[in-house]
Amino acid sequence: SAAGRGGLTAGVFNDLATEREVQQLTVRCPRTGCGAAMELGGLRSHLATACQFVEELCPEQCQSRIRRCDLAAHRAACRERQVACVFCSASVPYRQLNFHYLFGCSNFPMPCPHRCGRVLAGHQRLHEHVDRACPLTLVLCPFASFGCPAANRHRRDLGRHVAEAHSYHLQLLWQQQQHPHQQHQQ
Ligand SMILES: [Zn+2]
Ligand SMILES: [Zn+2]
Ligand SMILES: [Zn+2]
Ligand SMILES: [Zn+2]
Ligand SMILES: [Zn+2]
Repeated sequence: SAAGRGGLTAGVFNDLATEREVQQLTVRCPRTGCGAAMELGGLRSHLATACQFVEELCPEQCQSRIRRCDLAAHRAACRERQVACVFCSASVPYRQLNFHYLFGCSNFPMPCPHRCGRVLAGHQRLHEHVDRACPLTLVLCPFASFGCPAANRHRRDLGRHVAEAHSYHLQLLWQQQQHPHQQHQQ
């Protein structure tokens, strides 16, 4: 009937009007610390982006939930933040920086373990220094395999030994030629 349709139409209009009134109610943001006043209809978007007291997951992978107002300060100090190593420029999580210095960095300055005073940049250069150059590395006389007992001398002393023991080394070579199967004790 016409009366029934009119009643239904009026009801829809009434509901819309009521809905609009509800959306226009002034509310306060329920987040602790905020208390911003707004129309109810704006609360959802306020919480989604604007409210500084909503917690978000830290984007640095630390799994912490941080209030938006604290997020910038947290990220600046977050243990998972990526930092550039000042020695090799690699990007490393802050909490792994010390590990990187000691085990991963190609340029971290390391003093020679023999205390010769040199500081080498990175494991590679340190090992090369110790193996080939350090004056305090203990080395064998090059004639050790011919029987020279001058083992475990500092590299810096080896040149003097080789010069001083020149005739002794020649004698060892000569003996080796005379008795090629003789075993030498170290
Ligand atoms: Zn708020
Ligand atoms: Zn974090
Ligand atoms: Zn590095
Ligand atoms: Zn050294
Ligand atoms: Zn020797």
